[in-house]
Amino acid sequence: MWRCLVVFALMVLCSCSARVRGPHGIVGGRAADGFFYVVPVAGGVVLVDTGEQPDGALLRELVAGRTIVAVLVTHAHHDHYAFAHALGSVPVYVGAEDIRRMRGETQHQGAIQRAQRAQNGGVDNLPPVPAGVRPVEDQQRLVLGDRAFTAIALPGHTPGSTAYLYEDVLFGGDAAMARNGALAPIDEGYSDDPAMARASLRRLTGYAFRTVMDGHTGITAMGPDAIARE
Ligand SMILES: [Zn+2]
Repeated sequence: MWRCLVVFALMVLCSCSARVRGPHGIVGGRAADGFFYVVPVAGGVVLVDTGEQPDGALLRELVAGRTIVAVLVTHAHHDHYAFAHALGSVPVYVGAEDIRRMRGETQHQGAIQRAQRAQNGGVDNLPPVPAGVRPVEDQQRLVLGDRAFTAIALPGHTPGSTAYLYEDVLFGGDAAMARNGALAPIDEGYSDDPAMARASLRRLTGYAFRTVMDGHTGITAMGPDAIARE
């Protein structure tokens, strides 16, 4: 049963590519799974996640020859950062606990991920760790190019899950997704601690965002009033 569900979910998740466009010149894409976003800044672009890029073609298309100043990773699930290692020494910001996850020092604890790991002989297939990886802390303000991004820790989906606020845009990864008109974490089976993931959403109260750009839905007009009640 689990195997069928997992295979079906993978078929659905991997079956389409997409391009999306939002405010502030931001564009996004999904090649295999996991949206990534390209944010124009002085001197180039900032990427939020990289998605899964079998050959990097969609990412290159949307970057359009501009310099990649930095990558802001929302969390250490492979469908969000698997291509980051291919970007050389570009700074790659990740919540500290998720750097440990990238290095295999801790393992994903979601029910679906545990089942997948059991089928895989007890090991996770991890992408290479990006050379430029460095920790980002809760409330850290990152000035990249001429633009400021604020990191907001949302532990629970993974221990180092981090959202990034840019102008009136919230990049939520899988920790803060637009789902059926509400802002909520992804399905519980993919989260280390689903209860903590839901509780973390309260940390977004008071931030003045009007657009959510997340890991699997895409771009949605949504503000903090849409935070799902537990
Ligand atoms: Zn995830």
